[in-house]
Amino acid sequence: MKMTVETVLGPIPVENLGATDYHEHLYVEAPRWHIEQYPDFILEDVDKAAEELNRFGESGGQTLVEMTAIDYGRRAAKLMEIARRSTVHVIATTGFNKPLYCDRWVETSSEEFLVDMLIRDITEGMDGTTAKAGVIKAGTAYNNAGGLGEKLLRVGARASAATGTPMITHTEAGTMGIEQFEILASEGVPVSRVCLSHIDRNPDFGYHREIVHAGAYLGYDCAGKIKYGPDSERIAVLRKLVDAGFGDHVLLGNDYARRSYMKAYGGRPGMDFLLGKFVPRPEREIPGDPVPTCQSPPKNRRGPRRSSSSAESSLSIRISIIGQ
Ligand SMILES: [Zn+2]
Repeated sequence: MKMTVETVLGPIPVENLGATDYHEHLYVEAPRWHIEQYPDFILEDVDKAAEELNRFGESGGQTLVEMTAIDYGRRAAKLMEIARRSTVHVIATTGFNKPLYCDRWVETSSEEFLVDMLIRDITEGMDGTTAKAGVIKAGTAYNNAGGLGEKLLRVGARASAATGTPMITHTEAGTMGIEQFEILASEGVPVSRVCLSHIDRNPDFGYHREIVHAGAYLGYDCAGKIKYGPDSERIAVLRKLVDAGFGDHVLLGNDYARRSYMKAYGGRPGMDFLLGKFVPRPEREIPGDPVPTCQSPPKNRRGPRRSSSSAESSLSIRISIIGQ
């Protein structure tokens, strides 16, 4: 069991994580072809990133997981600079986002070469800095967990199995979640060490129940993005998950990887949305309980893998568990 988690400024005890945004982007040097097409994804401003990080902190956030992977333009030195300007802990990732963003070298490199690269990020530091990765990312394409996506999963899994580092994957529109953790498990990664991002793009209770039954975590990160459906849909599925005893298997994040989502760039809703606006809704709208509260622990734990009796916040409990 890992008792500490690596932030970009060094390890901290898991009990210090507090309310955690499990999936976010602060600073990105995205592939040039991508931002030429979609300039909204240009996030290359340290000042604005620090402003937004502090906005999250002022809303009650204590830790943020920066999910920008190698292929999408992670820059560890910039993340260190941003983290130094805030009291919020910043955890960074190694690994790869998804096949679309990977340069040719990722396809042509051997799995061994890539696994070693990830392990060095975790044990020595990323991008020539002392900042170590705290999580591993891998992802697949829409309805397709084969080809390069499968390679990314296997590479991430082997680095995870070797180091005990948790995995947070990318699912395209919520698809291939089950296939993903089956591939990861086949490489020796406990399913309980896996969280599937963007799963609320597909807010299907039966699908989500199957995932939590297997022991994996659901990453909800579409709150406030109404183009992906109203928040009431997410809250309705959360309600069912809570009733089924799995409220503590949901990790929450903003995943605001666009300028137009950040107040610092003149956009909305801003990084204070998750804790300031979204989390209070299930607290209000799901009577008697648990979901995503930052102040009180889940009261209704019937999930299969809960052992902690800690009274700390449910959000911090979740990230601590996946870190074990
Ligand atoms: Zn993301």
